[in-house]
Amino acid sequence: MPFKELQLIKPLLKAIAEQNYDAPTPVQEQTIPLVLAKKDVITTAQTGTGKTAAFALPILQMLFDKQDAGKKGKKIRALIVSPTRELAFQIYESFKAYGKYTNLRTAVVYGGTSIEPQKDVLTKGVDILVATPGRLLDLHKQDFINLDYIETLVLDEADLMLDMGFIDDVRKIERLCPTEKQILLFSAT
Ligand code: AMP
Repeated sequence: MPFKELQLIKPLLKAIAEQNYDAPTPVQEQTIPLVLAKKDVITTAQTGTGKTAAFALPILQMLFDKQDAGKKGKKIRALIVSPTRELAFQIYESFKAYGKYTNLRTAVVYGGTSIEPQKDVLTKGVDILVATPGRLLDLHKQDFINLDYIETLVLDEADLMLDMGFIDDVRKIERLCPTEKQILLFSAT
């Protein structure tokens, strides 16, 4: 099945072609239509199966479609929570690559590094935020992150997140987002 059959928009198809992806992987083929239909989804997928694109592409598409809605400064509309900074950074890079021909802005925040540059990026406004739980809550407490406009919450590597003891943080993050939202959960097990 070609990517076009997943009803993806041209700016995304162009970026996908530049990545030299011929066709969607099975996890993409199954997940993308459900995400575009605004369903909550639980996907079991290992790293390496193309799961990042399985959520990044439809999220970019949904936000792109609604882009003209407001020009009064960007609001975070998609939040991806990831257990480690390495994974968070990889997800951020993927959003940047796939979103190259949209003007959606993605940022990443994680712990173990200076918080000030992250505050600067957030102040400029982002559409999509990738974050590790602790730093996310820290920046939220300091009022640099507003989760009131989240439409889609992604819990990536959810099993690892539990193994690492992030359950309370993840619960807190979920409660800080609007009640009505789409939730996507990815787990290797
Ligand atoms: P992930 O499982 O998201 O970590 O992706 C694993 C690797 O597969 C990454 O290097 C992606 O660039 C690559 N990839 C993702 N989707 C496709 C696809 N449809 N065709 C070929 N490679 C892909």
